[in-house]
Amino acid sequence: MVLKVTTNTQVSKNLRLVELSGEEVAAMKLQAGQDIMVRVGEKPHLDGRGTIPVRRRYTVVDPQAAENEGRARILVGHHEFGLGSAWAANAKTGDETEVVGPRGKVVVDQAAKHHVFIGDTTFIGAARAMSGSLPSGAKSDTLLGIQDESDAAALGWVEADAEAEWIIDPQGPGAFIGILWMRFQALGIKPGSAHVYLGGELGLINSLKQMLERAGFGPGDLSAKGYWRIGAGNQDHGEPVKG
Ligand SMILES: Cc1cc2nc3c(=O)[nH]c(=O)nc-3n(C[C@H](O)[C@H](O)[C@H](O)COP(=O)(O)OP(=O)(O)OC[C@H]3O[C@@H](n4cnc5c(N)ncnc54)[C@H](O)[C@@H]3O)c2cc1C
Repeated sequence: MVLKVTTNTQVSKNLRLVELSGEEVAAMKLQAGQDIMVRVGEKPHLDGRGTIPVRRRYTVVDPQAAENEGRARILVGHHEFGLGSAWAANAKTGDETEVVGPRGKVVVDQAAKHHVFIGDTTFIGAARAMSGSLPSGAKSDTLLGIQDESDAAALGWVEADAEAEWIIDPQGPGAFIGILWMRFQALGIKPGSAHVYLGGELGLINSLKQMLERAGFGPGDLSAKGYWRIGAGNQDHGEPVKG
């Protein structure tokens, strides 16, 4: 589908809020936690003939507004390199963008009574979407490692049930591992009593996933997704390079 950029605002040092609108948005029936795959540019084909599209994935912050109003809002982390970051920095109102969706398998576990969201700046949109969609009475905790204080104010974190805690360290994902794990342990959550959702830099997510698995969390109460990887651009279809 082709969507139009309707607004694009820098909301904090490292985040832009981009709104993409079009009739097809509502039909996607996005679930909280799902994303859209945006064509952010192209690169030369290996055989030297023509170009191939480069796509990046961004979680829709408020899927209910997407369905009701045909507007998909995404929070894009911007940084020095990368076609996705450059696309977000340059997208102007009225620009047309090719989008595929919905994408993503990590959605809210409806059977859980307690939900814990852990990740980095790029996970703010997903954590916001999922915690904002919980039924009343469901408990949630959010632990986010961010690099600048202003990113904590992105969107205004005002969900009544969301307990959000921000760990700020300009050094980024590697510096978050130990402290996020300590804060999680301080919550005193036992396997089987909550669903834990992880999203962000691949190394950070893999480390936290291993720690949780060692503590007894398994596929039934743990959802983990690497979004990007330090030192390596994502693949052309938006997945981080594994291995
Ligand atoms: C399921 C899924 C959902 C996602 N949801 C979101 C989302 O809601 N918001 C969001 O911002 N991203 C999200 N991502 C990540 C996003 O798709 C891109 O990977 C990210 O924007 C980087 O793309 P890029 O083209 O700018 O950089 P790339 O070409 O991937 O990377 C170029 C260089 O920049 C570095 N880099 C990449 N990202 C960052 C960063 N955030 N900070 C510092 N350095 C970086 C890389 O290490 C690399 O060296 C999601 C990814 C997946 C798979």
